[in-house]
Amino acid sequence: MKAAAITGHGGVDQIQVVSLPDPVPGPGEVLVQVAYAALNRADVLIRQGLTGPGVRRPHRLPHVLGVDGAGTVVAAGADVAGTVALGDRVAIFPAMSCETCSACRRGLTSRCTRYTLIGEEEPGLQQQLFAVPARSVLRLPDPLSLRDAAAVPAAYTTAWTVVVTTAAVRAGERVLVIGGGGGVAVAAMQLAAHCGAQVWATTRSEQKAARLRELPFVDRVFCTPDPGWSAEVLDATDGDGVDVVVDSVGAPTWRDSIRSLGQGGRLVVCGATGGDVPDISIRELYQSNRRVLGAPFGGWNDFRDVFAFLGRSGVSPVIDRVLPLDRVREGHQALEAQEHVGKILLQLDTGDAPA
Ligand SMILES: [Zn+2]
Repeated sequence: MKAAAITGHGGVDQIQVVSLPDPVPGPGEVLVQVAYAALNRADVLIRQGLTGPGVRRPHRLPHVLGVDGAGTVVAAGADVAGTVALGDRVAIFPAMSCETCSACRRGLTSRCTRYTLIGEEEPGLQQQLFAVPARSVLRLPDPLSLRDAAAVPAAYTTAWTVVVTTAAVRAGERVLVIGGGGGVAVAAMQLAAHCGAQVWATTRSEQKAARLRELPFVDRVFCTPDPGWSAEVLDATDGDGVDVVVDSVGAPTWRDSIRSLGQGGRLVVCGATGGDVPDISIRELYQSNRRVLGAPFGGWNDFRDVFAFLGRSGVSPVIDRVLPLDRVREGHQALEAQEHVGKILLQLDTGDAPA
């Protein structure tokens, strides 16, 4: 079978499409024929060899990339319980955890002190066959295609954790999403709109702003190439500020994100792709009753709930493009150039990208 792997850390030339032996499912595992896998910002950071507190790195090289994907169960090892059957269409939950601590027992997987992520520490899903514990796969609701499902596990589970579980966005609130084109950001906008919120976005480029304005769930887009853009947000709210800001950029945007919040507003943090040491005023936080809430990738509960929501609502994930596996480098370049809106997928089951 074929896989996209990094052989070292650095530029896109470190990514190779390699042939690997077909995996054999062990006890309690199923073998999934992966139809589509998504690219994530994490792929780029892992390939570049990012280091620092809280940064996840592969246990060994070469390392197959890919945090999320969807496919069909084609084989099962011994002792697989009756929850999955051959032929089932499934999504794969990206987190591996101890399954025994109190957080795991309550489905709060990302609070487990021993949790690791597929595609980060563990080998990833950008391979045509993947052996995984049967407990880590979720049968897809009927209306959801494998293509759409592959866009969900990382971005939409995180967005669900941000918007529903953590921020508890309510109808009528104003939600501002920073850096509007990324997978989590677009998913957060889509879910916030379904909660009845007014959805605003920021982006640094006019070209990206034009694409975001075409999304039916986005009410307003601020083009913010320079710091100080919170003044524009405050103007647009007659000085009241917004109720929720979703920020995965970090250091470059935190100050404006906090200043964009009204009294009691919530800053939900789900990443720090632009740096993790912001220059902020603590007074600007507490004197306005503002709150900062951390929301890393969610738990099994969030994963299960967002799939159920997509199944019953008919909402389709926003997909920027689908590339065949052998064009994986192109996907990395698009992520680095931040030219995408929504998810970039790799198609693994054939060599051809759909039209
Ligand atoms: Zn645990």
